[in-house]
Amino acid sequence: MNISNRDKFYIYERDKRRCFYCKKDLKYRQITLDHYFPKSKGGTKEIFNLVLSCKKCNRLKGNKIPINYEEIIIIMFKKAYIDGMIKCTKLIVSNLELKKEIFKVNRIESIKPNFVFQSNNMRFYIIDNTIEKIVFLGG
Ligand SMILES: [Zn+2]
Repeated sequence: MNISNRDKFYIYERDKRRCFYCKKDLKYRQITLDHYFPKSKGGTKEIFNLVLSCKKCNRLKGNKIPINYEEIIIIMFKKAYIDGMIKCTKLIVSNLELKKEIFKVNRIESIKPNFVFQSNNMRFYIIDNTIEKIVFLGG
């Protein structure tokens, strides 16, 4: 998987050095990264869609879609943003407004070909851990 060591180490710490599924403690060299929303179903390797996994759980999960994927991915997206792991290149609102709005994200609008998160007011298009586009919604 083409992911930087920085991102990999971030996920290792974020998931408290434990398998996301079975909670087993993992040494850095033991880890695999699992696409929470499966790669085979269109889930990309954004930092908020990768979780720490032991080899066994990764194999067992296969291409199943977790029932709570939307909730979990939104939490991890917000955390990644707070932790400075999500960039925003085209800032059309102030940082403060952006932060407030990201906290209000309550749904995933789409996953393919890239993740799109939505609050009641804005839609955020994410490519390579970067907010590439912001669309204002009516109202
Ligand atoms: Zn495990």
